[in-house]
Amino acid sequence: MIDTLRLTAEEATGMLERGDLTAAELHRAYLDAIAERDPEIHAYLRTVEGGADQATGVPIAFKDLISTKGVETTAASKILAGYRPVYDATVAERCKQAGLGLLGKTNMDEFAMGSSTENSAYGPSRNPWDPTRVPGGSSGGSTAAVAAGLAPWALGSDTGGSIKQPAALCGVVGLRPTYGTVSRYGIVAFASSLDQIGPVTKTVRDCARLYEIIAGRDPADTTTVELPEPVQLPEAEDLKGLRIGVPKELNEAEGIESGVTEQVQKAIDVARELGAEVGECRLPRSVEFGLPCYYLIAPSEASSNLARYDGVRYGLRTGNGDVRAMYDHTRNDGFGDEPKRRIMLGTYALSAGYYEAFYGQAQKVRTMIRDEHTAAFEQFDVLVSPTSPTVAFELGARTDNPLAMYAADLLTIPSNLAGLPGLSIPCGLSEGLPVGLQLIGRQFAENLLFRAGHALERALEFDFVPERLR
Ligand code: GLN
Repeated sequence: MIDTLRLTAEEATGMLERGDLTAAELHRAYLDAIAERDPEIHAYLRTVEGGADQATGVPIAFKDLISTKGVETTAASKILAGYRPVYDATVAERCKQAGLGLLGKTNMDEFAMGSSTENSAYGPSRNPWDPTRVPGGSSGGSTAAVAAGLAPWALGSDTGGSIKQPAALCGVVGLRPTYGTVSRYGIVAFASSLDQIGPVTKTVRDCARLYEIIAGRDPADTTTVELPEPVQLPEAEDLKGLRIGVPKELNEAEGIESGVTEQVQKAIDVARELGAEVGECRLPRSVEFGLPCYYLIAPSEASSNLARYDGVRYGLRTGNGDVRAMYDHTRNDGFGDEPKRRIMLGTYALSAGYYEAFYGQAQKVRTMIRDEHTAAFEQFDVLVSPTSPTVAFELGARTDNPLAMYAADLLTIPSNLAGLPGLSIPCGLSEGLPVGLQLIGRQFAENLLFRAGHALERALEFDFVPERLR
């Protein structure tokens, strides 16, 4: 029996290398686990046929905005129902080259707009730690799949926090890479200046391994660059010489639950014991202006990116009459409430007469937020904070209040706007639910994040198997 709940991708790789089992047997074990546990969790929108064909490595699951040749890709929207891409996204192609077989496509908030996976047009996913609660979002299907042992690892996407935040809520590891290190070719676009694909895993070492597979320059995405140094698998168990900054505003923001602060403080104490130098720093305006800045820039880009869903090129088409009526019907029937809200916000912010006051102003604020981070990194190597202000909330708790939902990304958005990498690792439990620690690095400092995350993970000894499934 393969215990998919406990097995890490690294351990699974070892088993394959030793010939303890075949890639097809491993794949089958996960499909069996999915058949058994996914009816409750709904991490997957669909599993794929023949995913193990030609696989030589550990299987994987993809968020459903990653194009997969011949396999339906919907971004959890009705407007893309039935859409089968004719090519693989670069990240999918790289996973294939590395021998990883595809288990299936995971649930998400429609077009990655949301923080709970409740905006999926195909019904929400549930948190494996407590199925009455959300897994976070928008990559909640990927993080729930990994937490529930339904995939050894997965890919998600992070625009404002959609890998880090659900990783925190599900007690798994999530990396939002430096902007430009992972190709967006073949990804259903939300906000192109922010979108990044990244790994969701059980351990930091698995995260480094998967990042190594997907990262690096892609001629098909001109925003990508070659990594300045090869990915290093973290080994060190101490933090000697590392300067950790604790941004006051990110750690004392309104709305952070006391149980979350407690676990993060404990992790910071452990970092000190491991030899890190810890000091306070300031990001004076990043928290105050991060959300409003993000909610101008992201919807603006989304309103432009989503213009392509017009009933002509992809998926759904409804309405009779002239072409204009067809556009209207298709977009009205195909998009859910949240994409419609973003399209309206973005169209307004970009419209003549308002552009400078809204979009232009947000771009200036974005530069200011980036500069604040640059200043903090003059004194520190890594910045830490809670990933999410709260633990996983009940399904339905925020669906009627978009602003409360947006606040879930209060702490992940600032560094995203700055283009910086962020790693979330589980650091403890509050009310029996996982708490995530966010580690932010300089551009291209993924190796340092892996090193710090790995040492902390070892010392904190968090058990990633949800208590109710042990
Ligand atoms: N929750 C944020 C939003 O709704 C971030 C989503 C994301 O990172 N894709 O836009």
